[in-house]
Amino acid sequence: MTKKYDVLIIGSGVIGTGIARELSRYKLNVAVLEKEPDVGWGTTKANSGIVHAGYDATPGTVKASFSAAGNKKYDRWTEPLSVPFKRVGSFVSTEDLGQINELHRLREQGEENGVEELEIIEGTEEIKELEPNISDAVEAVLHAPTAGVVAPYKLTVALYENARDNGVEFFFNSRVEGIDLAQVSESNGRFTVKASDHDLSSDFVVNAAGIFSGKIANMVGDDSFSINPARGEYHLLDHELQGYVKKINFPLPSKDSKGILVTPAAEGSIIFGPNHQPLEEPSLATTKAGLDEVFNGALNLFPGIDTGKIVTNFAGLRAKAGTDDFVIGESDVAPGFINVGGIQSPGLTAAPAIAGHVIGLLEEKGLSVNEDPGFDPTREPIPKFSEMTPEEIDVYADDLSAAKEIVCRCEEVTRAEIEEAIDRGADTLDGIKFRTRSRMGNCQGGFCTPRLVEILSEKLGVSPKDVTKKGDDSYLLAEETKRVEQYE
Ligand SMILES: Cc1cc2nc3c(=O)[nH]c(=O)nc-3n(C[C@H](O)[C@H](O)[C@H](O)COP(=O)(O)OP(=O)(O)OC[C@H]3O[C@@H](n4cnc5c(N)ncnc54)[C@H](O)[C@@H]3O)c2cc1C
Repeated sequence: MTKKYDVLIIGSGVIGTGIARELSRYKLNVAVLEKEPDVGWGTTKANSGIVHAGYDATPGTVKASFSAAGNKKYDRWTEPLSVPFKRVGSFVSTEDLGQINELHRLREQGEENGVEELEIIEGTEEIKELEPNISDAVEAVLHAPTAGVVAPYKLTVALYENARDNGVEFFFNSRVEGIDLAQVSESNGRFTVKASDHDLSSDFVVNAAGIFSGKIANMVGDDSFSINPARGEYHLLDHELQGYVKKINFPLPSKDSKGILVTPAAEGSIIFGPNHQPLEEPSLATTKAGLDEVFNGALNLFPGIDTGKIVTNFAGLRAKAGTDDFVIGESDVAPGFINVGGIQSPGLTAAPAIAGHVIGLLEEKGLSVNEDPGFDPTREPIPKFSEMTPEEIDVYADDLSAAKEIVCRCEEVTRAEIEEAIDRGADTLDGIKFRTRSRMGNCQGGFCTPRLVEILSEKLGVSPKDVTKKGDDSYLLAEETKRVEQYE
């Protein structure tokens, strides 16, 4: 028999997982279906990690209604979940006082959107007091002190762990391939969601499938929107440069994007990017031309930065709907089917406000929402043993040898942290990376990957040959070598 839920959510990016976590406050049966082996592996893992102040969105758009509102809710999300979030503030810079009107326009727009504390700072000396290494050519900035930086994957993992601990079921490697509008009965909800591994039934479906949200809507006959992907490429710099860039630094925005920024990341590195490349088909491949564009854009703002500290590059895909706005609401053709699609930037910022809005929408459409007195809003982070004193390690570690064995030297990640990440649900190298930062540092896994494979294989009870980087057939080891056979 098909299991029946109150709400099924398709997609476990920051949007789907955030909605799941907020629904877990209530006495409801909720499940999330995700085609990847883990949470947050769509657009959520590859963006700038900025919680925008909210001045960029055009007033009256759906984006504008959720941007500043999302920013204001961030502390309420990140504090109980122990997620790194810092309100470092943002600058929009101009080198030409002739363009200062554009900064004034952004400030007024921000005020209309409900952004507080916006100020325009003129004069190199005043600007350099807040951002000492910015280009001498910068003449004026719009300063938004409420903007912040967050680790988007850590946030999504924390939302997932908390939602799961409060009763939400997550089905990974579970690709939604079709949705039937069902005959409602005792055992059947309005929708039968057909996933690659099983069918599930529900009265309400939330479509949070990112760049595939248009295709998921098509499955219930809703062709009201489609998604065009637009790629953004990045350079990531080593955390050795921590402190060199203090604010989130934007140039003046263009029609299509906020421009190539230079920002500290929540966990210490520095990010350059993104550019804006509309694509016919989704592709995460980085390009030489695109990365050069990002490099040059960043050097305009910080000409003295040590570009020898670039450790890697990556790309993310914006889910742009035809209206260039978020698509949030019940489908006109399928009552109970809620689209939360086209969530391009600033979707990470807007996520807490969107989650709250979607709960209200579900209630308005007939979902019974009763608080669960057992709901626990807190979640503990994985202890970071390399930052503890020996005395603290003695108190917090169950296994002293694991807490003292550094596996990833660049990011100083211990075996105890890796084992805990696996206990909490990571079953791939990337799953461990996004939870602990191992393989995110200078050597990009050159040293620690063999040990990580060994630990994963031991903890999961599988052959090292079955360990993958990111699920499917992303195996690392093809054959046992002669040398291994000799020494076994
Ligand atoms: C270059 C770039 C920079 C950005 N910078 C910022 C920023 O600094 N600040 C900010 O606020 N926002 C930013 N954003 C926007 C932000 O990243 C997104 O709005 C947000 O991550 C969208 O989350 P999501 O959950 O909607 O989508 P996703 O994270 O893509 O999640 C959708 C999920 O659905 C799953 N899925 C898809 N199809 C199926 C299916 N058939 N069955 C099951 N599962 C399925 C996917 O695997 C995926 O996990 C940026 C975006 C980009 C691309």
